[in-house]
Amino acid sequence: MYAGPVQELIDQLGRLPGIGPKSAQRIAFYLLKLPREDALRLARAISEAKERVTFCRRCFNVAEGDECDLCGDPRREAGVLCVVEEPRDVVAIEKTQEYRGRYHVLQGAISPIEGIGPDQLRVKELLARLEPEAVTEVILCTNPNIEGEATAMYLARLLKPLGLRVTRIASGLPVGGDLEYADELTLGRALEGRRELDT
Ligand SMILES: [Zn+2]
Repeated sequence: MYAGPVQELIDQLGRLPGIGPKSAQRIAFYLLKLPREDALRLARAISEAKERVTFCRRCFNVAEGDECDLCGDPRREAGVLCVVEEPRDVVAIEKTQEYRGRYHVLQGAISPIEGIGPDQLRVKELLARLEPEAVTEVILCTNPNIEGEATAMYLARLLKPLGLRVTRIASGLPVGGDLEYADELTLGRALEGRRELDT
């Protein structure tokens, strides 16, 4: 539709989550109108993040280096793991200041429609941590939507036979929403009111 580089920019923007063709066009032309320096600042932020940020080899949170700050913090309580879908959920839970344990980031949720099963998530890596880290409780903090609930049920069935305490954050979170949109107080209460799961 447009000359080479413009179309390429629209195509690349259109591959981002939640950006449809119309938004991609609007953002592309916004960027083209920006002063060169402002547009390049965005390009640099992307390439710098890609170069410096990796995923923690232990919990798969974002990290600069082998391990993230949380895994490297000796003051964090060992033995309790909070399982979340994405690094942004770690930030949401940290903001509540209600949790002092460690995390495990699945990097997604089970979604048959999108072809995402347990093998595409960091489930194997979760299981591998249980014994060496002497984990006694796993708190399932996946999102309160269909994919998040399915993921929690799958993990509960997997973990319960191992003799662990498996809990799920309390309801009261907006159903169908994302953890990150819950306010700190609500999320903190949901964490505090977690219950053991029956499977
Ligand atoms: Zn980590």
